[in-house]
Amino acid sequence: MHKNVFSEGRRRQLQVVSVATVFVVVAAVLAGLVAGSINTLTATADAIDDGRARHAAAGALQSLRKQLGATVRDNAYWDDAFEQVNSDGRVGWTVENWGSTSADYPLYDTAIVVDSRNVPVIAYRNGTPMNVAPAQFFNNFELLLKAARRAGPTDPIPVHFVHSPAGAALIGAAAIQPFARDSTIKSEDLSVLVFAKHITPAVVAEVSKSFGIEGLSLDPHPVAGRLEAILTDVEGDKVAAFTWPSQAPGTKSYAMVASGLRAAGAVLVIFLCGIAIVGVVTVRNLKASESRARSRALRDALTGLLNRAGLLESIADTSAEANSNNADIKLHFIDLDGFKGINDAWGHHVGDELIVAVAHRLTETLPETAIIARLGGDEFAVVTVEDPSLPASDVGHRIQVALKKVFEIGGRTIEIGASVGVAISPSGKIETVELIRRADIALYRAKDLGRGVTVDFEAGFDDDTNRQAVLEAQLRTTLETGGIDVSFQPLVDAKSGSICAVEALARWITDGGDNIAPDVFIPLAERSGLIDQLGLQVLRKSLQAAAAWPAIDLAVNVSPLQLKNPRFVKQVIDALQAADFEPSRLSIELTEGVLISNPEQARRAIDGLKAKGIKIALDDFGSGFASIGTLRQFGFNRMKVDRSLIAALDHDQNAGAVLHATIALANALDIPVTAEGIETEAQAEVLRGSGCDALQGHLFSRPVSAEQITEAYFVNSSRAPREDRSAA
Ligand code: C2E
Ligand code: MG
Ligand code: MG
Repeated sequence: MHKNVFSEGRRRQLQVVSVATVFVVVAAVLAGLVAGSINTLTATADAIDDGRARHAAAGALQSLRKQLGATVRDNAYWDDAFEQVNSDGRVGWTVENWGSTSADYPLYDTAIVVDSRNVPVIAYRNGTPMNVAPAQFFNNFELLLKAARRAGPTDPIPVHFVHSPAGAALIGAAAIQPFARDSTIKSEDLSVLVFAKHITPAVVAEVSKSFGIEGLSLDPHPVAGRLEAILTDVEGDKVAAFTWPSQAPGTKSYAMVASGLRAAGAVLVIFLCGIAIVGVVTVRNLKASESRARSRALRDALTGLLNRAGLLESIADTSAEANSNNADIKLHFIDLDGFKGINDAWGHHVGDELIVAVAHRLTETLPETAIIARLGGDEFAVVTVEDPSLPASDVGHRIQVALKKVFEIGGRTIEIGASVGVAISPSGKIETVELIRRADIALYRAKDLGRGVTVDFEAGFDDDTNRQAVLEAQLRTTLETGGIDVSFQPLVDAKSGSICAVEALARWITDGGDNIAPDVFIPLAERSGLIDQLGLQVLRKSLQAAAAWPAIDLAVNVSPLQLKNPRFVKQVIDALQAADFEPSRLSIELTEGVLISNPEQARRAIDGLKAKGIKIALDDFGSGFASIGTLRQFGFNRMKVDRSLIAALDHDQNAGAVLHATIALANALDIPVTAEGIETEAQAEVLRGSGCDALQGHLFSRPVSAEQITEAYFVNSSRAPREDRSAA
């Protein structure tokens, strides 16, 4: 049981942990995905912008080349130019057209013309003649001239970047020729026009502006962390590079939104954690309320012990365990002795407290492994698993000893005891329903045997149960054929000794000739719902017989269960009328149980009977809990002192005083007292002296047949009839 509780808690813990883990993992994956996406977004935006800038830079270089190429072409493929450079006035013409324009022409700052032997005709830079030979000023100058001469009229003009003492420059060259060159003109005979433009800071600024490349600069050497577009010479070698910083718009955008994103992320995480916490709490609450509901369904509200359903479940669980361990299960059914009386006498709250106290005592007494349940009312059950390596436990005995000790409830000292029925399921192999049936039968047997007994179920009990069933069937047929007999036991007047009344006592001799005692067949009739029929049969037969004895009264016993029948009073009255019997001669004997368990019902019936003049006697006074107060409360006309009190006179010195006081008290309240079970003259003497006005017992007569009463009545009405042992 403890193990179950533990594993339930552990299971719940694991569930909470796994739910939390799932949430943490989901949150981490989500955060990872978002961060990854943002990174990709940033990097992609950066890469796209870098690409655009590279493209723009390449475009700028291309455009610079094209521009220079077009300028060189326009000037070199010109009929006038061809004519002039091959004339004597070539220096003047070239200076005027190209040398001097190099001063301020935006497309070139250097203009050089070489003749067919590559001897410079003019070499101007910034509008003035250069003081250095062009081939020294520009790297690979000869190569460029060669390329210019090699290029056909429709070929692209060779344009390259080049080193010069003034820095990097763009240089292009073309052979000077007529616009429509004919094949007679040989390239090697041609002069060559060279334009160059230095990549000055102004040029760089212009490119930066026109092509939208921020932070552009010209650097001869690579600069770490900057993007670059390489300027190559005629041989494809690096001259310098345009470099510029990556604008990294993604990174910048990210930097701008990062704090917002982080805040959103934090909010998301808090939100998810919130959901996780709420979820976990909700799940836990649901589990808790489910387990509360479950435990309510399986537990007894008063004691907190398992209830019947809980017991069934526990037996099933335990059986499975016992089966694998080869251990025996012992089921103990416990019924408190005398509990009903306590409930009746002191009320349900005391009864409830006693039940709780019993539950505590069982829990304290029994080993922790024992399963304890309350099945309802004053019935408990205990399940133990026998350790196969130990001698059989005697839980039944321990229960008896524990419950025999007094209970202190609300200042009262209460003594009860218990009847225990035990059934064993070897290796847990007996079905729960069958095990319960056996424990139930054993308990019945224990109760039948009297108080404080433990009975182990035996196979033979089933035969008894069958016998009970047979007996019940027999009783049913006997009743149907009116076969219940009535014996009459005289009550004698204490003073005169003459018969004043008879008590009708039911008698049943079966077809097989067995004389079954009322103590057996009355409870049987009560259990099987035959008591109304039996009671009525006894009443009718007694009235019929007693009609012949008009001077004496008739007492008839009535079971408490008969009072539950709402037609009971009417049936009695009808029977009186049918027998033409004077109601005031009839006395109904009731035992106390019904008075307290169903006081309203009892009062209604008593009042109904008394209203017709019928007298009511309280039977077996002193055997239970009824007090003199009870007698008065219900308006009893007579009290019958129980046989046990009379018998006590023989061995208990105080018994006489108790009896005396009891009878005196009843008499003081004007309630006459009958003493029953008088067997000796000594007893009769005490009772006469105590104030009993009627005496009953074997001393005067055993119960006898109606005929014997008639005989005694008519032969000598002052004497009790002769004893007839066969009828007793
Ligand atoms: P009860 O009403 O207290 O009846 C008195 C019982 O005491 C009778 O037992 C009677 O035979 C016995 N008795 C009388 N004098 C003596 C004596 O001197 N010594 C001893 N030892 N016993 C004596 P019985 O007839 O066996 O009846 C037992 C109980 O069964 C009755 O107790 C009554 O409660 C119940 N009973 C009998 N007949 C009926 C009936 O028709 N209806 C109902 N509901 N109960 C009945
Ligand atoms: Mg009686
Ligand atoms: Mg009695």
